[in-house]
Amino acid sequence: MLQKKKKNQGFTLVELIVVIVIILILAAVAVPSITRYVQKSKIAKCANQRHELATQFQIMGTDVPEIALCKDTMEVKHILGSEIIKYMVEGGYCSKDITVCPVHNVEYEVEITTKDGQQQVTFSCPCVDSVKGYLGQCESYYKYLLEHKEEWGNPESNSMDRKDLLKKVSDEKGFMKVSDSMKSGTNFEKMELYWKPYFLKDGTMALYGTTNGKEAWSGWNAYLMYYEGQVYQCMNSEGSTPKGAGISDLYKYKSEEMDDYLKTKNFEKVSK
Ligand SMILES: [Zn+2]
Repeated sequence: MLQKKKKNQGFTLVELIVVIVIILILAAVAVPSITRYVQKSKIAKCANQRHELATQFQIMGTDVPEIALCKDTMEVKHILGSEIIKYMVEGGYCSKDITVCPVHNVEYEVEITTKDGQQQVTFSCPCVDSVKGYLGQCESYYKYLLEHKEEWGNPESNSMDRKDLLKKVSDEKGFMKVSDSMKSGTNFEKMELYWKPYFLKDGTMALYGTTNGKEAWSGWNAYLMYYEGQVYQCMNSEGSTPKGAGISDLYKYKSEEMDDYLKTKNFEKVSK
């Protein structure tokens, strides 16, 4: 009789502890995978939003044909005002909630560039490696400087001084840090590098990855190069320490000579 009563008293302390431990273990396993799942779906949502915005931008181009003819971001801003995204929201092309990256909670940056005569629009956020957008922005600064030659650099020369472009980018935007994903698989994974713009003789823009992100024009030492969407790394080394190459003479070369130039300077394509 006594034994039976005991059995009906519910859980013993030990049983309770065992149950709690099991719940804790399950939670420890489940929480990170749920977080990962949420993060993954946010990243996918961000990609959808960027795609949707680019589509809506093109639709807007059929309503406002002038913007479809624009070659860069500055030209579009000239027509729509400095806040392109705000214009899209107010014009009813998109809802405000898709203009913010769900992963990083920042509004997208719009970048309009031209490739082979074709207008390209990119909405970027820290989710995407925005080096392409950065390059586009450097190109628009370069164009701006060429159009305002009398204020910048030597008005007699056909192009302006490379240092003026570095100064302009440094003043307006600061140099973009080379992301870990760009450095992965290179000899410079542990180095802090910054992308700096450098234009070739025919005005084609390349980026070189270098250590000094502050002083605009100190040193033309490149560890990495970004050219035509491809990353190259310098294979020079001093003993076992990887080294960069001096590229101060790059402005003398045209884009069709770039392959040879990179080979001469011991740069190798990084497979991505
Ligand atoms: Zn994002």
